[in-house]
Amino acid sequence: MRECHREIARWMEPLGAHVRVDAAGNFRGVYPAASQNAPRLLIGSHLDTVPNAGAYDGILGVVLAVALLEELQGRKLPFGIEVVGFSEEEGVRFGAPFIGSRALVGRLDEELLEVQDAQGVSVRKVIEKFGLNPAEIPQAEAENDTLGYLEFHIEQGPVLEKLNQPLAAVEAIAGQSRIEFTFLGRANHAGTTPMHLRCDTIAGAAEWIGNVERTAQGVPGLVATVGKIEAKPGAANVIAAEARLTLDVRHGSDDIRTRAVGDLIRQAQEIAARRGLSVRESTLLSQRAVAMDPFLTAQIEQAIIKTGCKPHRMVSGAGHDAMILAEKVPAAMIFLRTPGGTSHDPAESVAVEDVEKAIECGLHLLDQLASSPEFQKRINRA
Ligand SMILES: [Zn+2]
Repeated sequence: MRECHREIARWMEPLGAHVRVDAAGNFRGVYPAASQNAPRLLIGSHLDTVPNAGAYDGILGVVLAVALLEELQGRKLPFGIEVVGFSEEEGVRFGAPFIGSRALVGRLDEELLEVQDAQGVSVRKVIEKFGLNPAEIPQAEAENDTLGYLEFHIEQGPVLEKLNQPLAAVEAIAGQSRIEFTFLGRANHAGTTPMHLRCDTIAGAAEWIGNVERTAQGVPGLVATVGKIEAKPGAANVIAAEARLTLDVRHGSDDIRTRAVGDLIRQAQEIAARRGLSVRESTLLSQRAVAMDPFLTAQIEQAIIKTGCKPHRMVSGAGHDAMILAEKVPAAMIFLRTPGGTSHDPAESVAVEDVEKAIECGLHLLDQLASSPEFQKRINRA
């Protein structure tokens, strides 16, 4: 990460940017505005990644931000641009995602600093070992003059490829429910127990899983996944007494998501009752959907049109730093088509032409904002 910071600094300093690494380990590089004391627009993404990762998730958004500054060729705008390369977005080491971006909204708190990795080393210790001072984390918060946050990111899914479009404007980041279901029945001999006298939890769970898939297929934009199933006692010749499953449900609308979750819980109870089983559920995660800033999103659509592409709007099924930044500043995202929809894998890729379109779109966007009366109002307020 240190080498990564050094490399980006080496790109940005010749452009006249002032660079630093904040106390949460985020890279920050400020490209000045045309006039002193003008407010700033943040553009960035994350620099960390997952094990056995691809080369584009996160880092592409930071490289694109630097590319936009290069393309300005020294031209100054009515607002400064701060390039941010976030640390620890994925949550690989500490199991807690968005550590870097949480510092910008003032939520890298004591509790998070005490979270430990598998070796028992805390976030606080790691920050100190990197040569940073956890006491300075409050200074990592986004300045009060921040106009907004813009993030380019690969889609990490197949939608844009299917539509044959290089870019999309993200209108919201989906809310998410994660629930564990446990079906309880009776273990018995697989050879001697007639079919009508069984309390088979795997058969009950399987019937319910089919319902989960059908329910999601029937609601536009809804995704529902049973990603894990565990049965006890777990032997070929024993009817399973217990089946434990996880359910992950996501949608851009919290109403639609919570209604779907309610329906699926009811269906599990009906199936269990009919089969002489019981079922209990416990909620592991319930996260609201986060809307992107409507003004910035509309501006992104216009900028996409100017590149000669169709302005597709979509909901992001995955969480991103933009979701955290949206707590404090207007946030917006642009997705780039992901070949094969493949991500978090060495085969992850992006087309050079699509990156070109993204840079073109970004430049149109900066020019639009520089001449927009609405954005001028925001600049005056900030
Ligand atoms: Zn990412």
